Amino acid sequence: MNNMKLAHSSAIRAEVKRHESAKTTIKKIFKQLERVGDQELRSTLQLHLHSVQAACTNSQEWTLSRSVQELRLGVLGSLRSGKSALVHWYMTGSYLAVESPDGGRYKKEVLVEGQSQLLLIREEAGPPDAQFCSWVDGVILVFSLENENSFQEVYRNYSQLNTHRNIVEIPLIVVATQDKISSSNPRVIEDARARQLCSDLRRCTYYETCATYGLNVNRVFTEAAQKIAAIKRQASLQAACRSLPNTPSHSGDSTPVSGAFPGQASNGGQSSDYSSSLPSTPVGSRKDLRSMVPADGGGSAPPGTQGSTPRRRRFPHSSDAEKKSAESRGDVGSGRSIPVKQGILLKRSGNTLNKDWKKKLVTLSSKGILSYHSSINDYMQNIHGKEIDLLRVTVKVPGKRPPRAVPAGSPASGLNGVVSSPDGASAGPQFPSGLLTVEEGAGAERSFSSPGVQRCPSSLSNKGQSMDSASEGMSSPPSAKDTIPASPNLSDKKKKGERRKKSMNQKGDVAAGQAEDEENFDFIIVSSTGQTWTFEAQSLEARDSWVQAINSQILASLQSCESGKNKARKNSQSEAVALQAIRNAKGNGFCVDCDAPHPTWASLNLGALICIECSGIHRNLGTHLSRVRSLDLDDWPRELTCVLAAIGNHVANGVWEGCTQGRQKPIPESTREERESWIRAKYEQRAFVAPLPAPREAVGGAMPSRLLATVLERNLPLLLLLLAHSTKEEINAPLPSPQPHSALHAACQLADVVMTQLLVWYGSDVKARDSQGQTALTLARQAGSQECADILLQHGCPNEAPPAAATPGLSRKVSSASLSRSTSRRGFLHFSSDQ
Ligand SMILES: [Zn+2]
Repeated sequence: MNNMKLAHSSAIRAEVKRHESAKTTIKKIFKQLERVGDQELRSTLQLHLHSVQAACTNSQEWTLSRSVQELRLGVLGSLRSGKSALVHWYMTGSYLAVESPDGGRYKKEVLVEGQSQLLLIREEAGPPDAQFCSWVDGVILVFSLENENSFQEVYRNYSQLNTHRNIVEIPLIVVATQDKISSSNPRVIEDARARQLCSDLRRCTYYETCATYGLNVNRVFTEAAQKIAAIKRQASLQAACRSLPNTPSHSGDSTPVSGAFPGQASNGGQSSDYSSSLPSTPVGSRKDLRSMVPADGGGSAPPGTQGSTPRRRRFPHSSDAEKKSAESRGDVGSGRSIPVKQGILLKRSGNTLNKDWKKKLVTLSSKGILSYHSSINDYMQNIHGKEIDLLRVTVKVPGKRPPRAVPAGSPASGLNGVVSSPDGASAGPQFPSGLLTVEEGAGAERSFSSPGVQRCPSSLSNKGQSMDSASEGMSSPPSAKDTIPASPNLSDKKKKGERRKKSMNQKGDVAAGQAEDEENFDFIIVSSTGQTWTFEAQSLEARDSWVQAINSQILASLQSCESGKNKARKNSQSEAVALQAIRNAKGNGFCVDCDAPHPTWASLNLGALICIECSGIHRNLGTHLSRVRSLDLDDWPRELTCVLAAIGNHVANGVWEGCTQGRQKPIPESTREERESWIRAKYEQRAFVAPLPAPREAVGGAMPSRLLATVLERNLPLLLLLLAHSTKEEINAPLPSPQPHSALHAACQLADVVMTQLLVWYGSDVKARDSQGQTALTLARQAGSQECADILLQHGCPNEAPPAAATPGLSRKVSSASLSRSTSRRGFLHFSSDQ
């Protein structure tokens, strides 16, 4: 039985993968077809391709054994219902503001009561026809809470379904989406009407979802799959009972099951909260099918009573449960989700002496994990893989020219909002996206002997292997046959990467020292404990595409993680007070970009509040320009609330909109395009930044001197203005000699959390040393500022003791294991409490 389960699961995963890859290829061909000049030929080809597309949807009929159960789920809703975004979030774990006019066909492996099953999702473009109605095992009816028409469409679709199919046979879930609700686009379907809908559509379950941050989305699909599976089990049992005493027969049942009833296998062993509302021991029962369908009000989501669903109650719960059930079967990898992105990369060995490069298959999953394997075989079998948990990591693009350098008016962004730096203009040959070079950080083992900051662990992996010991490499050298073959391009790039990194090259075929810096497309993943992994892409496009994909997974992980802790957090009064202080800061009643009232999102580094619509655009800018967080959903460490409360929209716009030259800013009703164009001009091109005042004579014009003087004056608005005008290189330029240290040192010495945080976000070098060889961390500890110290540690400042050893009189009470050296009593005492 176990073997069969395993075989099912891997067959399903292979099929899902095949389907996804076929779909991707077809999509690419459609795209290419647009370039066919001859219109007639083009439409003929498109027609053919549509039929290929349709055929590939049913590929599982040819690849899966009949004992693999298919769960067929239909999704209905108008174009404005948010159904495409709902399905997209479920499939990828990320939000895409899409409405697909053609619908879509998807496959996903789902676990229902420990069994792998194939969920077929059919997102229908129009109203349900007879074929659809006879095909489905269950239906999700979607409408948007801000769209009256989409609400009416639910009734129309329901009645269509009813004409073609006995509706009591199939589970129905009504989903109300909140994605598009905003102050300018308020909710129009009130609770009472939603309740009425649920009582009109008998026996449905009702959910409100928000695909922007995944609220309830998994829950909806999991529940649909469970309900469908339960009904199928009942149906097959009935069929079996009818045919007693014969052996169970497949005939007369549209869904063949294997000889052993799936239901029996899990008798009594279920633990999902949903199943508790179902008859869980159906064996031998001859109850009528209808009585087995969960009645209204059963289960954890009684319809009609959940008009304003408590947002945070279910979502984390269900995703946790899902994750757990996946992890409990981690040995077969049945919980593995469809890769968001996958490609063959070179990975640099973590061994500090032997930095050779190995090709890896790198996979970004929708569960917030970046994993890599030595071979496709290993990936398929899910062995010898290593994983980076994207929770509590950030992605950086080293040496990337700050966006100010983007010439105003240049097409600064790509399709998906990927920032293209001017270097991109000469980005060289196009390599297939997904070709990257990976370097596993040496920084980690060098400076972080004991991670002082205990955050969410940054390393998870199969079989207890840990990323921490970077040198262990892959557990076994892959055999030649399944090793990923080298591509010439890859090795070329590799050499360049190695030259720049001045590393040892085993193959010895590298002419060291040649300057080809411009041709590297690196990005680095840094964990909160300082561990780093460096990647090198083959092209700017490939890099930006990876960075963006990873960033969106980081965001999704943060949100799903932190919303789980949210309830407890929200109870903490101090956080509530801090958030209130943010809301009260001058100008914070309205979105900093479009003036929509009551913004609920924040851009941390800009110190500003933004509405949900603008937040989507900010997120696309990338974290180097704007770090977006939700006031409602996220967890708020004190250093972050400090920054936001200290700046606020009024001050922020004093800097960023100091010089708009008459250009009109967006209003709450503006389109996304209008907002985006404004926001990009404002932060990416820095087109409206107030001019720099002339430097004071005593200070001089050099940016590091000006920053230092400004920090010493504690002039926050001016600091923001200077930062808005400077590049990372300017910030980190060497100081003219009489000055002892950098602005960051000064901010830490003053224990100024806000300035420290801002300087770090804008690229101030956390590892820089002052004239006495001290890092800013040393000064932060001397000043007794745990928060400043935390900021520095989180951003990769080496956690080391200063060269001047401990001052006398400190050693008592010191647990030598936890903290060995410190420079001042104050710094030590404060710090030790946290070690
Ligand atoms: Zn806005």
